[in-house]
Amino acid sequence: MTPEIATTVRAYAPGRVNLIGEHTDYNLGYALPIALRSGTSVTFTADDGDVLAVTSEAESQDITVAVDTAPGDLDGWGAYVAGCVWALQQSGHVVRGGRMSITSTVPMGSGLSSSAALECAVLLALTAERPLPPLKVARIAQRAENDYVGAPTGLLDQLSSLYGRADTALLVDFSSLEVTEVPMDLGDAHRLLVIDSHAPHQNVAGEYAKRRVSCENAAGELGVSSLREVDPEAWRRLRDEPERSRARHILTENMRVLDAAEALRHGDLATLGRLMCLSHASMRDDFEITTEHIDLIAERACELGALGARMTGGGFGGSVIAFCSDEVAHRITAELGETVADAGYPAPTIRAVRPGRGAHLC
Ligand code: ADP
Ligand code: MG
Repeated sequence: MTPEIATTVRAYAPGRVNLIGEHTDYNLGYALPIALRSGTSVTFTADDGDVLAVTSEAESQDITVAVDTAPGDLDGWGAYVAGCVWALQQSGHVVRGGRMSITSTVPMGSGLSSSAALECAVLLALTAERPLPPLKVARIAQRAENDYVGAPTGLLDQLSSLYGRADTALLVDFSSLEVTEVPMDLGDAHRLLVIDSHAPHQNVAGEYAKRRVSCENAAGELGVSSLREVDPEAWRRLRDEPERSRARHILTENMRVLDAAEALRHGDLATLGRLMCLSHASMRDDFEITTEHIDLIAERACELGALGARMTGGGFGGSVIAFCSDEVAHRITAELGETVADAGYPAPTIRAVRPGRGAHLC
C-alpha cells in the first residue's frame, strides 16, 4: 500500500463593508454590502491525526485545536478557528487534523469583518475535498461565531464574504437569503472611503442585544413575528418608545436599501450619497447607535464635499464610509484628521476600497 500523499489546499475569503442597511439582518430586511479586495488566506495540509496546529501571522501565540473540540475549550483568536471545526462537526462533516497557517490583509476589529473572512477561509480550506454550498458555509460560520466565540452576529458578514464579486454590490434579502448582484463600477472618478475611527468599543454586545429586544417587542405589538411582515408606515401604530423609533429606523432603512440598489443600477451616485446621509441620521436619531465621535466624522466628511457618509457596522464606534469624488477623497484624507484630533479623538485611518471577488479555493 502506498502512503497517502499529503496535499496542501489554499483558501481565500475577503472582508466586507456594508454600504447601507444596518441592523436589518435580524429583522429579516435588506442590506447592500460589498466584499473587499482585502482578505484572509488559509493554507491547510491535512494529516491522519486528530489535532490541528494553527499559526496566524497576526498573532504571536500558536494554537492547537482537537478535532472534537467543544465551546469553552479555546478563547481569543483560536475560538474562531476552533468554532469552525466544532460547527462543521455539528453539521455532520468530518474534520481532519493537520497544519494550518493564516495570513490576512483585513485589519482586525475595524468593522471590516476580519472575523467572517477568517471563518469563511478556514471553512473553505477544511471542506476543500467536498466543497459545500455557500449558504451552508455561511450558516456554519455564523454558528461558530454565535455559539463558540459567543458573538451574537447575523449572516451579513459571511454572505458578503462568500458571494462577493468585483465591481458589484450585493443586495441581500434576509428573509429569503437571496443575494442579488448590483453592478457598482466606481471607475476612476469616484472613491469609497472607509474611515476607521479607532473608537474603543464599549458595551457593544449589550446595546446590540437591547436593540434586538426592542425590535422583537415592536414586531410583537404589531402582531407579526418580524418587522419584515409589516408595511413601511406600521411604526406609526406603535405608541411606546423606544419601540416606535426603533421600528421606524428598521422600516425606513429597508426602503433606503432598495432605493440605494436602484440608484446604483442607474448610476445615480448623488441619490446613493443622499440615502447614505439619511441612513446615518436614522441610526443617530431613531436607532441611537452612533456616538458624538462617529457623528463628527460623518458630518465633516460631508462638509468636505462627500456625496454621502454614514457609520457602517453594528454601531458605537467602528468605521464611517464616505462616498465621494476622487478630488474630495484627497481633501478628506488630508483634512479630516485635524478636525477629529481637535475634538480630542484619535486620528482616523482612511482607506479607499472597491468591491472585490468573494471567497474561493486558490
Ligand atoms: P472585525 O470582524 O470587525 O474585524 P471582530 O471583533 O468581529 O472584528 O473580529 C476580530 C477578531 O477576529 C480578532 O480579534 C481575532 O480574534 C480574530 N481574527 C480575525 N482575523 C484574524 C487573523 N488573521 N488571525 C487571527 N485572528 C484573527
Ligand atoms: Mg466581526
